[in-house]
Amino acid sequence: MDIILLGPPGAGKGTQAQRIEANHAMVQLSTGDMLRAAVKSGSDLGKQVQAVMDAGELVSDDLVSALINDRLDQLGPDAGAIFDGYPRTEAQARSLDDLLAQRGRQLDHVIELQVDEDALVDRITGRFTCARCGEGYHDRYKLPQVENTCDECGGHEFKRRPDDNEQTVRTRMAEYRAKTAPILPIYDQRGIVSRIDGMGSMDAVQAEIERILRD
Ligand code: ADP
Ligand code: ZN
Repeated sequence: MDIILLGPPGAGKGTQAQRIEANHAMVQLSTGDMLRAAVKSGSDLGKQVQAVMDAGELVSDDLVSALINDRLDQLGPDAGAIFDGYPRTEAQARSLDDLLAQRGRQLDHVIELQVDEDALVDRITGRFTCARCGEGYHDRYKLPQVENTCDECGGHEFKRRPDDNEQTVRTRMAEYRAKTAPILPIYDQRGIVSRIDGMGSMDAVQAEIERILRD
């Protein structure tokens, strides 16, 4: 089964992708994570994309589709893909169709997380993660139980994404509205879109997604 998680920045795609991965024979393919890894590694690619990401703009369609192509090569035929943060434009949506068709795969579900944009800015600008295990936290909604200590792994180092500031978040949302939301009709025509309320708790959203995957 191959699925897309779609929704504006901060909608919870990454969290839900990890939960799906933990419960199914499926692998999260996050272009944002791939690009952040490239930036961190200091590779030429990383240097090219860093400024674009810091501004909240989209990197080139060819580049992200090439990243996805590589990952699909590594994915066994029995493993499902959870596309997270990809596709983000019509051109990427067309590339994804080709990349899947070349491998005899096809999309089963597109799950849109619907959220209130004002709440998103609040969610995103407060979020941080454990540098060791990746557990997510929030300045106002979910602080570690013991100050400066990760609930999950006991780590003491935390990190924030450089693009999680208000100005960049507004640009990321504008990009979503202008370029990403318009790809939904492509999938609507195929009858594979499910819309769920992304403002509920992470558990409630997860339960909704599980229901869709069982259909
Ligand atoms: P979010 O959904 O929270 O904005 P992501 O981690 O998916 O964050 O993406 C972070 C940044 O990486 C984006 O703002 C953009 O610059 C770049 N990026 C990620 N995926 C894509 C993509 N499919 N196409 C173009 N740029 C992308
Ligand atoms: Zn941790």
